[in-house]
Amino acid sequence: MSRYRLLPTPAQEAILRGHCSHARYVWNLAVEQHQHWRPGRAAAPGYLEQCRQLTQARAEHAWLEAGSQMVQQQALRDFGAAMAAFFDPGNPAGRPTWRKAARNEGFRIVAVRPGHVRRLSRKTGEVWVPKAGWVRFRWSRPVPPAARSYRITMDRAGRWHVAFAVIPDPVSAPGNGEIVGIDRGVAVSAALSTGELLCVPGVTAPERARMRRLERKLARGRRGSNRRGRVRLAIARMRARETDRRKDWAEKASTDLARRFDLIRVEDLKIMNMTRSARGTLQEPGRNVGQKAGLTRGILRSGWGLLVRRLEQKAPGRVEKISPAFTSQRCSACGRVDPKSRESQAVFRCTACGYACHADVNAARNIAAGHAVTARGGDGVARPVNREPQLLLQSA
Ligand SMILES: [Zn+2]
Repeated sequence: MSRYRLLPTPAQEAILRGHCSHARYVWNLAVEQHQHWRPGRAAAPGYLEQCRQLTQARAEHAWLEAGSQMVQQQALRDFGAAMAAFFDPGNPAGRPTWRKAARNEGFRIVAVRPGHVRRLSRKTGEVWVPKAGWVRFRWSRPVPPAARSYRITMDRAGRWHVAFAVIPDPVSAPGNGEIVGIDRGVAVSAALSTGELLCVPGVTAPERARMRRLERKLARGRRGSNRRGRVRLAIARMRARETDRRKDWAEKASTDLARRFDLIRVEDLKIMNMTRSARGTLQEPGRNVGQKAGLTRGILRSGWGLLVRRLEQKAPGRVEKISPAFTSQRCSACGRVDPKSRESQAVFRCTACGYACHADVNAARNIAAGHAVTARGGDGVARPVNREPQLLLQSA
C-alpha cells in the first residue's frame, strides 16, 4: 500500500467528511444486521440484498441520499470482503466490528476505468473523488499505474491520505537453495534461523516518556476544552508515526527476505486463534490470561500479520506455513522435546545435549527444518487443540 498525503480544499474536505460518515453509517448497519445472525437462523442478508436495502434507506434519508451511492455501495462491498476474510480459515482476520467516528474515518473508491489519477507537476497529482471532483495529493513517489482502487482516510490527527491498493510485484528468488525459518517473538519481533533478530521499530524511550506526559495531561484536562483537544491531537500524531514506522518495517523486511532466500518458512499460527484462546472455555479456563493478553497485544503491535502477507505477495509460492507445535521446546540440534529446555523467555538450553541458543532463534531453526510437528513425530499437519470446533461444541 503506497500512501500519499491528500490536500483537499476546505470545500472538498467537507464533502470527504460526508463520504466518511456515510461509509461508516452503511458499514455499521451491516455489522448490526450480522450481529443478529446466529447459527441455525436464516442467512444474514448478502451484498445484493443489502444494496436493495441501501436504495430504500437512501429514499428515506435525505442525508444519505445527498451522498455518493458509489461510496456507500463500496462500503457494503468492503464489508462483504471483511466477512469473507473472517470466515476464511487461512486468513488471520477478526470479525468486522463497529466503526467509530474520529477513529475510523475513511472510504474506498474503485475506479471503473483508468484515468482517475493524473499528474499535475513534479510534486503534485490529482485523484478523482465522487462529488468532490479532482483532489490534489503530494506526488511523493511514483503512483503504480495499475492502481484502480484507492482508499481515502483521515487519521486521528486530521491528516488526509490516499492509498492506492496494489499487490506488490513478486521479487525473483535468488536461486541459492537457501531456506530460512522465521519465528515471531514478542521481545524481538522476529528471529531468523540464521541467528538474526529483527525488531520492529517501536517507541523510543524519550517518546514513551512524552506519551506518558501527554496522557497525564489528557486525564487532567477538562472535557471538551481546547487544551484537551490539542493534547489529543498530539497523542494521535505520535500513534500515527508509530504505525507508519511499523508498516515501513514490514515492507523493507519482506523485500529483503524474499530477495535473500529461496524458501521462507513461517509458523502457521493464527493471530485470531491466539487472541481467542486466552480466555479459554468454561470447562477449561484459560491459563495466564493476563499474561497472554499482554502477549497478544505485543504480537499485534509487531506487525507480524502484515509481514507474512507481504512475504506471500513478494515471494508467491515460496512461503511455507509450518505447524508451530513444540517449536519452542524442541532442540534444533538433537531433536529432543522437553519443556524444561526453555530456560527463560530468551534462553534455550537443551536438557539432553546441552545445546544453548537464543530461544527464538532455536524455534526459527526448527521452523526452517520444517520439524515443527507433534512431540511424538506427527504428520506435520498437526493442529493446535484449542481451535474453532470448540465454538460449535459450546453452542450445541
Ligand atoms: Zn539437544
